[in-house]
Amino acid sequence: MSKISLHPRLDNGYRYEEDSNFSGGTLKCLCENNPVEVAVEAQTMHNHACGCSKCWKPEGAIFSLVAVVGSENVKVLKNEDKLQIVDESTLIQRHECKDCGVHLFGRVENKDHAFNGLDFVHTELSDKKGWSAPKFAAFVSSIIETGTPASKMSEIRNTLHDDLGLPTYDVLSPELMDLISIQVAKLKGTYRD
Ligand SMILES: [Zn+2]
Ligand SMILES: [Zn+2]
Repeated sequence: MSKISLHPRLDNGYRYEEDSNFSGGTLKCLCENNPVEVAVEAQTMHNHACGCSKCWKPEGAIFSLVAVVGSENVKVLKNEDKLQIVDESTLIQRHECKDCGVHLFGRVENKDHAFNGLDFVHTELSDKKGWSAPKFAAFVSSIIETGTPASKMSEIRNTLHDDLGLPTYDVLSPELMDLISIQVAKLKGTYRD
């Protein structure tokens, strides 16, 4: 029985060399000609494998790898005219390259949401080492919706957890879910420290 491919960076024993002094790099889409280039001028946080159907994934992968950085650190350097928003109705405004379909950044601009001011980025699009390493897997059950056989789920959860050391969640991690609820509680006036 062949193993299901989760993501090239997770399957091939790629080791993240997370560097606490790392200060960012340039993300590039996959176009051979005139790629979109985006500078991320800070280390990312909350890097994780995401099983949702919306995040960009490389060919053959069932998870994306996605991290978070403040929008003020994200600047389009080249070929901005090739960017378009995938779906304006979603919280995360994912900006994709019209030609190759790669998502360069997903921006949250919603004052009422805990993620306001953050961009979601795929640091594998940079050739630099030192980016934050994936720490958990989110929206794991959602991979069933994109065609992963339900019978493979326990094998996949075991691989993520036991082999890769990534705790698995079916929404986001407890820390991020708490942040979302804290913001909701603050808006409702029910927040207690
Ligand atoms: Zn492209
Ligand atoms: Zn996702």
